[in-house]
Amino acid sequence: MRCPHCGNFDDKVIESRTLANGDATRRRRECNGCGYRFTSYERIEDKQFMVIKRDKRREPFAREKIERGVQRALEKRPVSQMNIENLINEIEDAAAIKGKGNRELSAAAIGDLVMEKLSALDKVAYIRFASVYQHFENVEEFVRAIQKLEGTVDTNC
Ligand SMILES: [Zn+2]
Repeated sequence: MRCPHCGNFDDKVIESRTLANGDATRRRRECNGCGYRFTSYERIEDKQFMVIKRDKRREPFAREKIERGVQRALEKRPVSQMNIENLINEIEDAAAIKGKGNRELSAAAIGDLVMEKLSALDKVAYIRFASVYQHFENVEEFVRAIQKLEGTVDTNC
C-alpha cells in the first residue's frame, strides 16, 4: 500500500487484528521507506464506517483524528508511545464493535469511548480531553467533572 506520508509502496504489516466477529480486519502497517505507521482495513462489505457529527453530517471514520486528540491530551504526560498506540487501538476496536450494526457511530459516542479509555490511563489527560471535548460552559461544570472523576460528587446536587 502507498505510504500516506512519503508515497513509498513498500511496507510491512506489524499487526493484524480481526474486528467485530470477523466482519473486518485491521492491519497496522509500517512504511519501509520512512517508518510512518498507518492503518488499513479489509471488510466483507465495501461500505465505509462512518461517523455522525454533531451537525448530523457523516464523514468517514478517521483514526488520525482520534490520534490527534489523544496525543494533544497526553502531551508531556509520562505515557509511552506504545501505550498511546494501544489506547488508540482499543478505542478503534470498541468503536467498530459498537457501531457494527449500522456501520456508523455518533461522534459523541466516540468521544465517550476516548474519555473512558483516557480516564483509565491518565487522569490529567482525561481532564484535558474532557475540557476540550465537552466545552465546559463554566467553572462549576469543570469542577463537577473533576469531582466525578474523583468519585466525590454529591449525588444530591
Ligand atoms: Zn513512508
